[in-house]
Amino acid sequence: MAVSERPVRRRRDYDGTSPFPGAGEHVPAGRSQTALTGAIVIAPFAALGAVIYLAWGHGAALTDLLLAAAFYVVTGLGVTVGFHRLLTHGSFTARPWLRVVLAVAGSMGFQGNVIDWVAVHRRHHAFTDRPGDPHSPYRYGTSLRGQLRGLAHAHLGWLFTDDQTSAERYAPDLLADPAMTRVARAFPALCALSLALPFAAGWAIAGTLYGGLTAFLWAGLIRIALLQHVTWSVNSLCHLIGSRPFKTRDHDRATNLWPLALLSFGESWHNGHHSEPTCARHGLDRGQIDPSSGVIRLFERLGWASDVRWPDPERLRRHRTGALSPAGD
Ligand SMILES: [Zn+2]
Ligand SMILES: [Zn+2]
Repeated sequence: MAVSERPVRRRRDYDGTSPFPGAGEHVPAGRSQTALTGAIVIAPFAALGAVIYLAWGHGAALTDLLLAAAFYVVTGLGVTVGFHRLLTHGSFTARPWLRVVLAVAGSMGFQGNVIDWVAVHRRHHAFTDRPGDPHSPYRYGTSLRGQLRGLAHAHLGWLFTDDQTSAERYAPDLLADPAMTRVARAFPALCALSLALPFAAGWAIAGTLYGGLTAFLWAGLIRIALLQHVTWSVNSLCHLIGSRPFKTRDHDRATNLWPLALLSFGESWHNGHHSEPTCARHGLDRGQIDPSSGVIRLFERLGWASDVRWPDPERLRRHRTGALSPAGD
């Protein structure tokens, strides 16, 4: 509970350049959490080594890559459309069954259970880039060394600290939703399923155990790692480098970073998102690819989503900073 409950939380108490108070005092996570997080971070690299060894001279099987892409899209949209735009920010209302499907798909992304994910992310919006933010690259100040250290913290380091976010405080709506508490409780089982399904699919398609193994490595471990690093890059890089065409709150330095747009399903238009957090579309300018908002549009047409918060041109005009947007008009 350490950092989240500290009193220095008012915006004017922070100058925007100093390290956060108590930045260096980390309470390390418990041994089992550290071991588990470490395994999740390192296992994919072992998998990558294994597939390079296995595929040397043969090339990866097309089946494995197609399976990896399919699982990446389903679990990735579970995180971006489900965890983020629907459940954290309420950018639209989904039919109850779709809400559950999206929460299940997001849980298979190995990014924590749905309720904790939402609580941490709401806290990030409440304290963006100032004391109280669970993963800000400005934690150690704005010197070069501080920035590099902050980047490592925002990307991955924060997962190894015991800085718990209260779900009672930040996600009471989800705690009161029996369907969501059930999905949250099923998180370990859904992680297991996220690895077992690619294995089973690979085995069924190739007809050999070896086919199951390579599918497990590609569409299981490597796919999970890629999605995690893309999500973590939105936390780290998309607060540090890129353009800021829209105004955000004091100290909030969220940026738009076009190279990650496709892989992050539109989440790297992070400046647009922090400027209009409840908007269903993050790529607010023309030409800004945002597959997640395309999926929400599809859900709306099918009658599965309603009350979608689409961008309001008048608000956007008022929020514009005048900075050039790289993929814009
Ligand atoms: Zn952010
Ligand atoms: Zn958000």
